[in-house]
Amino acid sequence: MNHRNRSASWLWAVAIFAVYFQEHGQGLVMWGAMGLQFLVYPHVVFWRACRAADPLQAEIQNMQLDNFCFGVWAALLGFPLWIMGLLVICGCMNLAAFRGGAGVGQALAATVAGAVLVALLGGAAPFAPDTSLLVSLMCLGALGTYLVLFARSAYRRTVVLNDTRVKLRQSELALQGQLDAVRALQTRLTEQANRDPLTGLYNRRYLNDSLQREFDRCARDGSPVSLLLIDLDHFKQINDQHGHAMGDAVLCQVSTLLAQHMRTSDLCCRYGGEEFLLFLPDMGLDAVCERAERWRELMAAQRWEIEGQSVGVTLSIGVACALQAQMTPAALIALADQALYRAKAEGRNRVCVAPIPGPAPIQAAAA
Ligand code: GH3
Ligand code: MG
Ligand code: MG
Repeated sequence: MNHRNRSASWLWAVAIFAVYFQEHGQGLVMWGAMGLQFLVYPHVVFWRACRAADPLQAEIQNMQLDNFCFGVWAALLGFPLWIMGLLVICGCMNLAAFRGGAGVGQALAATVAGAVLVALLGGAAPFAPDTSLLVSLMCLGALGTYLVLFARSAYRRTVVLNDTRVKLRQSELALQGQLDAVRALQTRLTEQANRDPLTGLYNRRYLNDSLQREFDRCARDGSPVSLLLIDLDHFKQINDQHGHAMGDAVLCQVSTLLAQHMRTSDLCCRYGGEEFLLFLPDMGLDAVCERAERWRELMAAQRWEIEGQSVGVTLSIGVACALQAQMTPAALIALADQALYRAKAEGRNRVCVAPIPGPAPIQAAAA
């Protein structure tokens, strides 16, 4: 991340040190050490960081080592103010960029450690903070260059970060859209799986899934359960006389009429070809018989004009009512079926009630 900025600043350092060494007549050892420090060392530690298991951690260690070396140079040269200012400021900025305020403390501590080590080993030069105008100007130039490079890197990272955020947001929105579509599809599939395609009523599969649940709920509440099994009379004749499409249309009309006159808590399902099952929870025998009779009368009085033909149909209805605790859904349906059979046998267009097994169920008011 930092290689270009570091390389540029090391080149500035070489130039500054070269001028300073020239002015102060430094020996070959110092020139050699300077070459190693500013031309060889940066690339060795960069190479090491690139190959490290954790390159960022290695880079931070490199920056701490930089500051330690700056401290060594400070002591070796007698603390020239401009040069040391440049190195310490740049060193602190580098670590602050990765470690925040703590990085500044670490940079200063490493610098002091380097200087103290040289002093303890007796290698510190006499205190000489002054630098020539040329060296001072070069330090100023180097500092300016580094600050601008640093700001430019920060700007670029901000741009990349913003781009990434925008892309992330777009992906998030796209994903949300896909999730919504999947959920909508799931809802549609569940609806399709539970509905009869012709009439839109619930199908037998849904009835099987939900009836036991409804029975359990009524058992908890101690309320009665009622079932109507409805069969259209002589429906085959409608098909035979008016065609199958007309038969379909009549089935749809009957479904609509049934659905229009039931409570939201009731469950109406297409039980077979021209048979319907109505589950009426929390409804006692009197109320359910009254309802069944109302549906029968409504249907007997109804005639539909379909494709220019007047069509009507009557209903035979089997009623069964019980306290849930008394029987299973299948047993209650079987009772309603027997009652329906009787309604057919007794001449159709009528309501027959199955005998109530066991003790009489609670009479609940119809909604
Ligand atoms: P009953 O009064 O004894 O019930 O006589 P029915 O003619 O209604 O009874 P049957 O069982 O003899 O005939 C039922 C008819 O319902 C036969 C079948 O073709 C028709 N049917 C069943 N499902 C559909 C359907 O989805 N569409 C149409 N158009 N007809 C259907
Ligand atoms: Mg029939
Ligand atoms: Mg039938």
